[in-house]
Amino acid sequence: MANARKCDRCGKLYEEYNVGYNKKKPNGIQLISLDTSHKYFGYFLMDLCPDCMDQFQEWLKQQNSK
Ligand SMILES: [Zn+2]
Repeated sequence: MANARKCDRCGKLYEEYNVGYNKKKPNGIQLISLDTSHKYFGYFLMDLCPDCMDQFQEWLKQQNSK
């Protein structure tokens, strides 16, 4: 049974999606700080609805093609 979530970007309510580890199907984003050995410290988690995740991944794809 899916749980209701609220998108941290647009505020829309949605049902959980892509639950579990799958790096090709994320359902949120997080900022990190890296140290010199690339250990990371995460903070600022954002749950994203499917629409905002699609927009984020499209934006990211455009940045990688520049
Ligand atoms: Zn959203």
